[in-house]
Amino acid sequence: HAKEAGRGCFSFFDFTINARNQKLIRVKQAMRGAIERNEYHLVYQPKVDPKRLVITGYEALLRWNSRDLGYVSPAEFIPVSEESGEIDHITDWVIHQVALDKQRSPTLIDANIAINISAKQFRSTKWLNTLRRLNNTGKLDAKQITVEVTETALVDSLDQTLDQLKQVRRLGASIAIDDFGTGYSSLSYLKKMPIQYLKIDRTFVQDIGRDEDDQTIVQTVIAMSHAMGIKVIAEGAESTEQVSFLESKGCDEIQGFYYSRPLTLENLEAFHLDDV
Ligand code: C2E
Ligand code: MG
Ligand code: MG
Ligand code: MG
Repeated sequence: HAKEAGRGCFSFFDFTINARNQKLIRVKQAMRGAIERNEYHLVYQPKVDPKRLVITGYEALLRWNSRDLGYVSPAEFIPVSEESGEIDHITDWVIHQVALDKQRSPTLIDANIAINISAKQFRSTKWLNTLRRLNNTGKLDAKQITVEVTETALVDSLDQTLDQLKQVRRLGASIAIDDFGTGYSSLSYLKKMPIQYLKIDRTFVQDIGRDEDDQTIVQTVIAMSHAMGIKVIAEGAESTEQVSFLESKGCDEIQGFYYSRPLTLENLEAFHLDDV
């Protein structure tokens, strides 16, 4: 009996692993040719200075409507693209698309746009060369670009990452640490890195009003960052209570559904902060 139960368990386990693998393989296959078939587009989420009530910039977020799979969220396909190496092509597409969208949209033309760069991409300089080429040919002003990197990039390949981030700064772009507080970086990394912004992960922001420890963390991160000359952006603020708390603690910028969801190019032109 024990043997049979064990076998039963094993095959069940085997089945779920296989189902997961098959999903990954399907996503990987569907990604092939997706750029050429125009399946990607960008949406832009405003970042707001809560004191002056002005939009300080936008984060470009990737959307994929797959011919084969329908809508797939970035949380699902970005990790697959990192594993397959497709992320390098996707990011090239993102950088070019930001340049195009800026030319097309009166709202974006002079705005600062943040783009996400995966930790794995610091092993090569492909994305950096693309940014440099567009900047040097006048197609995209790097001074209007903020590069968002997670703490993992700092921990995984510190020297290479540091070298690339210095080059990013030389181009005039800004650097933000994304999802701060969820990785394993120590504060000493922050001191070494030429960063201008720190984005507090939304898991801390969402418990404001519910969890005193998270409030203490948010408040302390803001104070520490300011002492180091780094500005703070809070992600994922949804309620009035969260926004007032963040503002009262001196948080420089807020990004979240409270102000706006990520917007398509068409919806961007119609969006006004006064309506919030
Ligand atoms: P992220 O860079 O931390 O982006 C913020 C995510 O939080 C976005 O999810 C955004 O839609 C969501 N968000 C913003 N405000 C709120 C809020 O008030 N409440 C809630 N519940 N969520 C909010 P999204 O667009 O699904 O992207 C997920 C992640 O996928 C991003 O996290 C980023 O790590 C990755 N990603 C998205 N686009 C790109 C890209 O072009 N390149 C790379 N490498 N990664 C990307
Ligand atoms: Mg981001
Ligand atoms: Mg983030
Ligand atoms: Mg996040």
